[in-house]
Amino acid sequence: MNIENSRIEFHRALKSIPGGVNSPVRAFKSVGCDPLIIAKGKGSTIEDIDGNRYTDFVSSWGPLIIGHAHDDILAAINEAAAKGTSFGAPTLYETLMAERIIAMIPSIEKVRMVNSGTEATMSAIRLARGFTNRELIVKFAGNYHGHGDSFLIKAGSGAITLGLPDSPGVTKGVAADTLIAEYNNLASVEKLFAEKKNQIAAIIVEPVAGNMGVVLPEEGFLQGLRAICTREGALLIFDEVITGFRLAAGGAQEFYGVYPDLTTLGKIIGGGLPVGAYGGRKEIMDYLAPIGPVYQAGTLSGNPLAMAAGLAMLNFLSTTPGFYAKLEQKADFVEKGIRANLKKTGVPAVLNRVGSMMTLFFTENKQVTSYAEAMKSDSERYANYFRLSLESGIYLAPSQYECMFISYAHTEHDLQKLVDANLEALKQL
Ligand SMILES: *Cc1c(COP(=O)(O)O)cnc(C)c1O
Repeated sequence: MNIENSRIEFHRALKSIPGGVNSPVRAFKSVGCDPLIIAKGKGSTIEDIDGNRYTDFVSSWGPLIIGHAHDDILAAINEAAAKGTSFGAPTLYETLMAERIIAMIPSIEKVRMVNSGTEATMSAIRLARGFTNRELIVKFAGNYHGHGDSFLIKAGSGAITLGLPDSPGVTKGVAADTLIAEYNNLASVEKLFAEKKNQIAAIIVEPVAGNMGVVLPEEGFLQGLRAICTREGALLIFDEVITGFRLAAGGAQEFYGVYPDLTTLGKIIGGGLPVGAYGGRKEIMDYLAPIGPVYQAGTLSGNPLAMAAGLAMLNFLSTTPGFYAKLEQKADFVEKGIRANLKKTGVPAVLNRVGSMMTLFFTENKQVTSYAEAMKSDSERYANYFRLSLESGIYLAPSQYECMFISYAHTEHDLQKLVDANLEALKQL
């Protein structure tokens, strides 16, 4: 595989962009090689600037559930662009988008559009704090909610006990307002509520954890969070930036039948353009300016190009017969293939999957149900696996602690290629 142009261009980028990338995970740091510079993509395939082609299982980290450069989405963007790219005034697109989201996501009665998942979660906790008149939030170790200050507090023993931020630049004051609980551990949540009676505004949770690798909620976990919030007068926020429109048309809340007070959305909702959204019960959402006291705004929020792309995406998902059943079939095929390969080769690993998101953890453990178990994975082994897969033309997430996404654009041939490459890589580990 010749990747000379990628190498040259990455080293050029290093001179003008910190680390050569505009988001740290793109740097391939944990897999020990330079990132590929991507020239284009169509359907399930991407091509780098050296002309190498790969079957893509990163899917832009989630958004591209129907593949790259989908015709419907391109047509919608072109049509919108010809009419003007931004007005800073209401457009019909925004109302159509809001109505479509409300029709798809069961617990959302009103919704506000923003420009990224990070903005959605930051705004949602401000709203929760304003609405409840309480200051603390609970988040789970290993869950990711974007790069807002309040969320950069996750794990690491000392950091938790001292309430110290994980990242320099986050003040002690902000860090102290975020309490950390353990995923799939209701007792850890109960303990915080007992210690901080009437002070906790909200629990924010990834209903399926996707940012420590895929970790499924155990039976009763989400139901338990719902019950605690209702009992304690706190809001339950589902961060569905990954799971929204992926696990079902109505997201994880529809899939598991547990309904939050607020939901944050991103990734798929933008059809590949930068979009986020947050929504929920009317009386909470009406606490936002201009009709309520909690301020949140955005010059480009509800941007017509982004709305057009997102609407085309949501239209496709909600009008294609059997969309989620077909996606499930594709993902199930991959799961069965990888499980058979693991059996054949005897490589110790755990495969976690729900719907079209999955992670292969290289671990001696029998299961991965918590952050602590996820962290026991052999990330060196994953790095080898990643590089071997790349040489077979399979583009995976450059980290053990991310999801592999199956998209609707993946053909039987693509999926068989993935399973075959998986076997070859496992044999060489
Ligand atoms: C990606 C992600 C975010 C942040 O979204 P950005 O658009 O990258 O700001 C928030 N929450 C979850 C669960 C995510 O996976």
